[in-house]
Amino acid sequence: MIHRRKTRQVALGDARTGVVRIGGDAPVSVQTMTSGYTYDVDACVAEINRMAAAGADVVRVAVPNKKDTAALKDILPQVRVPVVADVHFHFGRALESVEAGVHKIRLNPGNISDRKQVQEVIAACKEKSLPIRIGVNEGSIIERKDKQKRLKELGGVFGDDKHGHFLAIMIAKLEEYLDIFYENDFYDLTISAKSPDPQLVIRAYTEISKRFDHPLHLGVTHAGPKETGTIRSVVPLGHLLAMGIGDTVRISYANDPVFEVEDALEMLYCLGLRERKGVDLIACPTCGRIEVDLFTLVQDVRKTLADEIAMPIKVAVMGCIVNGPGEAEGADVAVFAGKQRGIIYVQGEKVATVPEAEILGALLSHCKAFEAKVNAGEAKLGEKVVDIVPPDPIGELGSGASKIAAGEVTQVTVGGG
Ligand code: SF4
Repeated sequence: MIHRRKTRQVALGDARTGVVRIGGDAPVSVQTMTSGYTYDVDACVAEINRMAAAGADVVRVAVPNKKDTAALKDILPQVRVPVVADVHFHFGRALESVEAGVHKIRLNPGNISDRKQVQEVIAACKEKSLPIRIGVNEGSIIERKDKQKRLKELGGVFGDDKHGHFLAIMIAKLEEYLDIFYENDFYDLTISAKSPDPQLVIRAYTEISKRFDHPLHLGVTHAGPKETGTIRSVVPLGHLLAMGIGDTVRISYANDPVFEVEDALEMLYCLGLRERKGVDLIACPTCGRIEVDLFTLVQDVRKTLADEIAMPIKVAVMGCIVNGPGEAEGADVAVFAGKQRGIIYVQGEKVATVPEAEILGALLSHCKAFEAKVNAGEAKLGEKVVDIVPPDPIGELGSGASKIAAGEVTQVTVGGG
């Protein structure tokens, strides 16, 4: 059980999009950002709606130019999630975004620092009860011109830390910036402190969480391609979340943003911070006992069940029945493959033996039937664990029994996973 740090809750959205709460006792929300041009209204709407369908709670759009903020008026009525305007360099884009009806503003203290301009944005957001995110990301908070001077002034505060200089500047910058908001009696704030360096991300958010009670927007910025970005993101974000730090997350890949949403949700499911929607799939990594094309089967099962099953049924796809049952313990529906065929179990009861080509279809129909039983109150998720001790499992499934009988192989009882 993770004990989450108490934060001051903010809310964004409206009657059409629904209201998303961030911080306090609200579930950790998932954000992502469009990758296309905001001024391209149809493409932007399509991208936002695709992200929302994947499970994004909030979507951010860049508004570098007037034509982007002008497009918001056409975009907002067509989407079903709260939209955040990401503003850099010109506070006027923030004012135009508020006017257009956006649900939250993100400001960068590194390039929108003029006190009067920030006060104007605060006043506009206050009037419409919109929250603001302050993003003190590495690489954007330090004014290039006085970087060396500030490093000298502040570097000693965290002097024993590998990331001391940045942490000192970040905290000082944040305190300075927050003063403008507090002086104007504005507290509907969230804070982010992203970096491409996972260790710095952990240190930065840990230090911020000790000093401020505003909700924290976690992220590793520019995490790279999904193939490596997943680890780069989930290691620090999972670490922080497990410590109770973090109220909303964005994973950033150089890839389709839908992957960001899927992976952020899976991370939160794994930590028990969100209630799972859709199937909880486990699968064996395969070993020398495998006698079907399990990797293809697992991918097909993943895609098919994601499209067809809304309930968080635990499904196991295992390469054999020698050790599979132990490893699939707790699965509601499981398939144990053998020589070009598979046996399907539903809550411990064997329901079918099918050829390899029919495993996917049979598994789907048994998942659907089980889902219907749960909906009818005739079964419960996780009620019966897999507990299978068949008399001759290998013999039924393939060539194993004959090989054992011939002394060609020895049946073992340790896990292969
Ligand atoms: S022993 Fe484990 S890893 Fe090997 S095929 Fe069977 S279930 Fe998969």
